[in-house]
Formats: sequence, C-alpha cells, structure tokens
Amino acid sequence: MTDDLILDQNPEEFRRAAHAAVDWIADYLENIDARPVLSRDAPGSLATRLPDGPTTQGRSFEELMGTFDDAVMPGITHWNHPAFFAYFAITGSQAGILGEMLSSALNVNGMLWKTSPAVTELEIIVLDRLRGLLGLPEGLFGIINDTSSINTFLALAAAREALGFDIRQEGMTGRTLPQFRIYFSDQAHSSVEKAALALGLGVRGVRKIASDRAFAMDADALERAVAEDRKAGVVPCAVVATTGTTSTAAIDPLRRIGEIANRESMWLHVDAAYGGSATIDPRSRSMWNGVEQADSIVVNPHKWLFTPVDCSVLWTKRPEMLRETFSLIPEYLRTDSGKVINYMDYGLQLGRRFRALKLWLVLEHYGIDRLQAVIRNHIGLAKRLADELENRDDIELLAPQSLGVVVFRAVVRDEKGDVNEAASERRTEELLTKMNESGRLFVSHTKLRDRYGIRVAIGNGATKWEQVSRVLEFL
Ligand code: PLP
Repeated sequence: MTDDLILDQNPEEFRRAAHAAVDWIADYLENIDARPVLSRDAPGSLATRLPDGPTTQGRSFEELMGTFDDAVMPGITHWNHPAFFAYFAITGSQAGILGEMLSSALNVNGMLWKTSPAVTELEIIVLDRLRGLLGLPEGLFGIINDTSSINTFLALAAAREALGFDIRQEGMTGRTLPQFRIYFSDQAHSSVEKAALALGLGVRGVRKIASDRAFAMDADALERAVAEDRKAGVVPCAVVATTGTTSTAAIDPLRRIGEIANRESMWLHVDAAYGGSATIDPRSRSMWNGVEQADSIVVNPHKWLFTPVDCSVLWTKRPEMLRETFSLIPEYLRTDSGKVINYMDYGLQLGRRFRALKLWLVLEHYGIDRLQAVIRNHIGLAKRLADELENRDDIELLAPQSLGVVVFRAVVRDEKGDVNEAASERRTEELLTKMNESGRLFVSHTKLRDRYGIRVAIGNGATKWEQVSRVLEFL
C-alpha cells in the first residue's frame, strides 16, 4: 500500500488535453459539413484499426486522441451533421455540449434529493419552465429519463397499476385476471408495443387502431375497438396518442382520443417524443388541443430541442401512481430530508445523471426567440422541399408534409400512364442508395401502406437550405 497513490497524477496534462479536446470539438462542429455523413466502415473494421491494449503503463491523452481520430472516427456516422436527415435529425449544440462536460466533471448521482440537492431542484425548475414554454397545462410533475421508450414504459406501468387490480401486491401470476389492453395507432412507435410486452400484457394485450389518410389515428375506429373489447370482457387499460409519428410526423386527434379515454377510464399517454419540441413555437401548439386530458406526456429534448442524447422528459398529472408503482425504499436509502422529491421513487432506476444541467443551458443560452425561430425554420425548409417535390411528375409525396418530415418516392409509369409499383420501389431504393453513398446527405426509408418511401427529417441546428436542396440534386 502506498499512501500517496492516486489515479490521476498529472493535472497539467489533463488541462492541456482538455483544452485540446475543446479545440477538437470546436473544429469538428465548424467543419463537419465537409465529412461524409454516413460512415463507410464495413462490419468489423474498427478492430483492424485499433491498437492492442490496454498497456501496462497506460498511454498519454495525446496519443489516445490520435488513435481516436485515426481508428474511431472513420466508424462514426455524423448525427451532428447538417445533412443528417435520417430517423430524426438531432443536435449536440454548443450549450448542450458544455452541459455534458460540466455534468461529467461533477459526476453526481441524483438518486435522492440529498445526494445533490441542486440536481433534483434544477430538474424540477427546468422541467416546469419547459412545460410553460411548450404551452402545457400547469401542475404537471416532470422527470427526466434517458429515452422515451423508458418513459412510455413507466407511464404504462402506472396505467396498469391504476386499473385497480393491485398488481404491485398480488402480481400477475397465480391468479385469474382479465385481458388488459393498450390501444395505439398502426403508426405508433414500436417502443409502445415493447412497453406493453415488458409489462406482461403480451401481444394480445395491444390493439393497433387504423390510421386515416393522413396517417393519424382514426378516433372512430378506436371507439369501436374499445366497445367491442368491453363486450368481450377485455379491460381497456390505456391509449397512446402520438403527436408527431415516426414515419410521417402525423398528429393524432388528441381531443377526441382524450374524450374516449376519459369516458372509458383509460390512461391517456401522449407520445410527443418528436413533435412536442415544436410547440415551443405557439404556431405548432394545435397538436396540444385536448392535452389537458392527458395523464402523461413524453417529449424528447434530445430529438428536436438541441440537447445532446440522452434527455427525455415525462410529465404526468398523476405522479402518485408512479410512486405507488415504483417506490421501494430499503433502509440504506432512507433519508430524513423532509418534504422533498427523491426521484428514485418515480421510476425503475436508482442512479440518475445530471441531465437537467444541459437542458437548462440550452434553454437559457439560446433563449426563446432563437429556439422558436430555428424550429420554425426547419418546418419551413421541410415545406419548401415538399413544394419542390410536388412540382415534379416523377416524384410523389407519400404523406402530407408535417413538422420537419417529408416522405416521397420516385414514380415509374408504364406506357398507359399507370404507376408500376415494383419499378417505383426499385427506383426509389436506388435513389436512396445513391444519396447515402454520396456521403453528402443521409436519409432513411419507411413503408406506408406497402409503398416504399424516402424519408427526410429536418431538425439539426446547423441545417440550411444548402443542405436540404441536396435531396433535389439526386432526382
Ligand atoms: N416515440 C416516437 C414518436 C419516436 O419517433 C421515437 C423514436 O424515434 C420514440 C418514441 C423512441 O424514442 P427513444 O429513442 O427516446 O426511446
């Protein structure tokens, strides 16, 4: 044993390396558009580039930064690229990056209020401010978790408990329970069904409701499905409305769905993981029409609010149901802090990162005007792209442009002028491959009612028409 043996022995080396890393980050962000968006690595490439290790004596930061550049970077797909239009474009903004840096330096764990009061209190304050900025009702309890998948799981677990079958105490096995059911549209994100599976409801425990021509949930079909299920002895548990679906950013009719949920005593969960951020601009708030009926709402600032991955917010007006479902306090976690929120009581995980810090920095640094303007601009860019595409005979929009999302396909016609479905799909796939292989942009695909389409999602903080117009160059 050596008294003075510690891990980090050279603060000056760290200072130099950290300054160099910040320079690296600033250069990366400034020049990112020159990089190919999609990594060109073949599977297994990294192992061929990475030196053996770790060594007995360790390596300097300087050497490791070189290896990072040469070995790791070629395998990176640049999500922070302004021509990243696949899945949902996201942004590791300057303010967000600073937040991540500071939070990892503090390395706090906000499992209890007393394990760092400011971690819990900033989360409470920033989520209430964000709630107000998005025009959501007052009095909601907010919590940050890593992803919307987890937040939806927590909300649906609370919904299951709220049915009154005392599942926490009695469990779901060794007794006879009716079939519970969760409803969502055929356009809802797979995380909703996954949550139902994890909650033991099974595939039979979900019912996908047809969507209309604009890919929004058909509320009449929901009404019929619930009535039919009730007749058959099924217990409706929850309905998930999506405001900004994954494929087309369609917006489910929240008010009608909420009325049905209310009447049928179902929990209403709103998946606004993508679309919710847009409501920082009052012009996008029509998606909240009826949101006061929601029991829970999820919004991901890590999708479209310029906050680095990961940061997903769950708001609920029934936090007591989250507590009833999840609070379990062993002796070693008992505290006498008085009336405070201990976030470990509201979910599955104990430890929690200081995610509120980066979200706070993003909201405070950019300010409301800039956040609104950038998001409004994204929607404008999507509209401009949709207009340009609509003007062409060889292209067809597969869904109305909504928020930052445009879905289209190439159309191939036979001599009679009829669309050849198989040839259209082939042409669209070829187009997508050509775009992505170019490195100049990255788009993803979806299938809508059996039609294969290219999906462009605009949402990176550095995106301008210059990047969006690249889509047109390939047509
Ligand atoms: N909900 C919607 C509408 C989504 O589009 C997505 C992902 O794209 C999710 C949920 C899942 O998000 P997360 O990765 O945060 O679990």
